[in-house]
Amino acid sequence: MNQLQDCRLVQWPDDQAAFDTAVNENPANAGSGAGGRRKRSLIDYPKLWANGRTLKIAFIDSPDPDRKQKIIAAASRWLPYINLKFDFVDGVQGDIRIATKNNDNSSMLGTDALLVHPDWPTMNLGVTPDHPDFEVIVTHEFGHALGAMHEHQHPQANIPWDKPKVYAFYQNREMNPLTREQVDQNLFKPFSAPQAIHTDYDRRSIMHHPVSNELTLGDWENPINRKISKKDKRMMRRLYPKQPRRTP
Ligand SMILES: [Zn+2]
Repeated sequence: MNQLQDCRLVQWPDDQAAFDTAVNENPANAGSGAGGRRKRSLIDYPKLWANGRTLKIAFIDSPDPDRKQKIIAAASRWLPYINLKFDFVDGVQGDIRIATKNNDNSSMLGTDALLVHPDWPTMNLGVTPDHPDFEVIVTHEFGHALGAMHEHQHPQANIPWDKPKVYAFYQNREMNPLTREQVDQNLFKPFSAPQAIHTDYDRRSIMHHPVSNELTLGDWENPINRKISKKDKRMMRRLYPKQPRRTP
């Protein structure tokens, strides 16, 4: 079976605190300015960083230099499409804090990272450079850190999941089994439309998990997407524009 890439996208559980933090960082998250044609509600707002800022990204558990450089290279694949800078540092202080020693690949969504206790990581990159999907997984996790949701949970995705099989597959596997609720959160639950922020469903997105044909009804599968897709680029350019938007 096509081994599914593991990733946990984590959102801060207190939505009022998450909303306040997002708006404090970037007032456009409240629904005015970039991307805000509609008034947003508390459950469907983006968690974008202030456009133009430098994100300080800390390696908190001293990965070896080779691994560190490979993480930096994979994360930096986003840089041509965003108006943010990355400042990678060693130590415990950063807007984004990366731990590499946990057996887990996960990230907080965008500005939710600001709510995490300063001693804790906001991103886990357990994947090691000898893994064939290392680069994809690191780039994918940084997509979440920039505010991107899971594309397979796009409201237009309509993936014909064979849900009983999916639950069984994740519950019974040896490595990192997932509960029913975790499967719902990470695979099935669609995110609300405004979080899709401007782009249609994109099967080629690097934010889409690979989907095994054995876990769907009929003939439906999706390979692992190894590149930042055209629509990923377009979305990031809209979220973090390099040119100021013209005001009408
Ligand atoms: Zn993910």
